[in-house]
Amino acid sequence: KQALLKRNPEAKIISLGVGDTTQPLVPHVAERLAQSALALGTTKGYSGYGPEQGELLLREKIAHKLYHNCIRPHEIFINDGAKSEVGRLQVLFGRDVTIAVQDPSYPVYVDTSVIMGQTRSYDTKLHQYSGITYMLSTPENGFFPQLQEVPRTDLIYFCSPNNPTGTVATRKQLTQLVSFAKKNRSIIIFDSAYAPYIRDPNLPRSIYEIPGANEVAIEVGSFSKMAGFTGVRLGWSIVPDDLLYDDGTPVRTDWHRIHSTFFNNASNIAQQGGIAILDEMGLQQIEQVIDYYLENTRIIKEALEDLGISTYGGSSAPYIWAAFPGRKSWDVFEEILENKQIITTPGSGFGPGGEGFVRFSGLARREEVVEAIERLQPTKSRTEQLIQLT
Ligand code: PLP
Repeated sequence: KQALLKRNPEAKIISLGVGDTTQPLVPHVAERLAQSALALGTTKGYSGYGPEQGELLLREKIAHKLYHNCIRPHEIFINDGAKSEVGRLQVLFGRDVTIAVQDPSYPVYVDTSVIMGQTRSYDTKLHQYSGITYMLSTPENGFFPQLQEVPRTDLIYFCSPNNPTGTVATRKQLTQLVSFAKKNRSIIIFDSAYAPYIRDPNLPRSIYEIPGANEVAIEVGSFSKMAGFTGVRLGWSIVPDDLLYDDGTPVRTDWHRIHSTFFNNASNIAQQGGIAILDEMGLQQIEQVIDYYLENTRIIKEALEDLGISTYGGSSAPYIWAAFPGRKSWDVFEEILENKQIITTPGSGFGPGGEGFVRFSGLARREEVVEAIERLQPTKSRTEQLIQLT
């Protein structure tokens, strides 16, 4: 981007790259945040440290509104977002565990595992860390790994809707994953940060919709993409009572100890914001923002398909996974940036299985999406560039 701006300072670059949100907080939530900040300036409204696992009302609302009471409030731990929680979860399991990740996937699972010391060498030929099982997820296998080919690992990171592919695992697939974990005595760390983008009632929004998952899975959720809280910071993790170590002791007890040792919980203002999100009014308002992003995604996907580019995901997630078979994803990224001044995300950054793809994000502003689509249209002078692109 810097190099392009140096050569062409007039370039108006549009970012369909990073996964940050762009729309303002909805009024119901912004008002509650302001009120709770003001209340802290009064004797009556002041509060300091809150409960270790987070405000009970917030946990009750998460259990009720998002998990339809199949999870209980004491199994929920409030946090400052899913990313830091994934890092803390590494501390729960330590450096001696083996892990499997979807390939491609959100890089934080692998990066925190490398920092923890679960792997020590990087294979420059395969572009992957040794000792980590990469579960290849491609259009050919419906973005769901061939579990019969996956060796046993202690932990399995699984993200649905997936970042970057934007695809969602079906109920049948998650049922297979749960029985695979049960058979192997593995723990699934299920990241549902994009669950609110699922509109199809037949698709599972949580791993706990699968019978028996509470014996094998931890779930990490977030208000970031659900309600534009990427800057406010608020999320949660769930460690069910039924998740036990081999010796029968509950994982939840350890997690409570680690969580409260490392962390004094999310800001009380953010937690009030989370309570407002889960009010009827909050839920109605955030739904409209999610619809806006999903419409962006639909527009981008349609335009790419019209250009003859195969795309995946996008209907239940704010991401589109665009295929450029036989090409390096960094080359495609550079070409789109150079020729169209549009930033995308090269797929190889999400794991070796991301090579040959780029990710487009619908979390942008509508006017940027519309302009990006216009730029992608073939014009006489740009036809050659486009043929190259496809
Ligand atoms: N999980 C996934 C799959 C993500 O894509 C992201 C952010 O992009 C996160 C978690 C981080 O969420 P948070 O903002 O709650 O830390």
